[in-house]
Amino acid sequence: MKTCGICKKEYDETQAHSEYAEAGEWLAGEVWGDAGELCPLCLENRATLVMMYDHELNS
Ligand SMILES: [Zn+2]
Repeated sequence: MKTCGICKKEYDETQAHSEYAEAGEWLAGEVWGDAGELCPLCLENRATLVMMYDHELNS
């Protein structure tokens, strides 16, 4: 188990990721530089926010 860098909850990094979580993981590596430190839920939340407010990253 790992501890999320945002919400501080423990999560299982081996569990299946949704499409949003995978997008968030990519963003974590490419944009924020904190890949591997966030739980799937925070990755999903981040990806959702980015897709709503920052379309430039998706082009
Ligand atoms: Zn989290």
